[in-house]
Amino acid sequence: MTYPVPQGKPKANMKSMTEAENPGNAPFWKTKTLEEMTQTEWESLCDGCARCCLNKLEDWDTGAIVWTDVACELLDGTTCRCRDYANRTDSVPDCIQLTPAEVRTLTWLPPTCAYRLVRDGEDLAWWHPLISGSPETVHLAGISVSGRTVTEAGIEIEDYENHVVSWPEEWPEEALERPAQKA
Ligand code: SF4
Ligand code: SF4
Repeated sequence: MTYPVPQGKPKANMKSMTEAENPGNAPFWKTKTLEEMTQTEWESLCDGCARCCLNKLEDWDTGAIVWTDVACELLDGTTCRCRDYANRTDSVPDCIQLTPAEVRTLTWLPPTCAYRLVRDGEDLAWWHPLISGSPETVHLAGISVSGRTVTEAGIEIEDYENHVVSWPEEWPEEALERPAQKA
């Protein structure tokens, strides 16, 4: 038997750090703990993949979580942006506001999620906007959910089991290596 797991949320901004916010050479995600980050740093860590906006199912007996390609009704399935971020909890009350404590306790964060990577002492990959300088690379690398979801509107929870997918738990091959720069 399964039941829906509350969704996470992508953060609103992915601004690059200013010199004042990051005066040293090492980027903040290598020098600060999750708890030490400023709000701007924290929000910039989100890569905008929207994997956490997918519905998940948890087995009541084993606790195992499986992913579906059924996206939150507020998610724009192409841009991977929340359509009503400011008021999202009015219609999606279980949208989780990720905090350092949440990141340290949630077991289902996708393996590509920057919060999980930093939590586990890993570096960000080439496609992360903080590395590439572009919000598009998360789509180019096949990390984001763009074009791969259906909206939950009109889909009964009982039918979610027909939408179980494994890709939100995986690193796509094209995400492993940075493409060669064109001359
Ligand atoms: S309301 Fe839905 S689309 Fe918006 S951030 Fe939360 S889970 Fe994502
Ligand atoms: S899975 Fe992580 S990096 Fe991706 S949108 Fe959610 S919080 Fe941001």
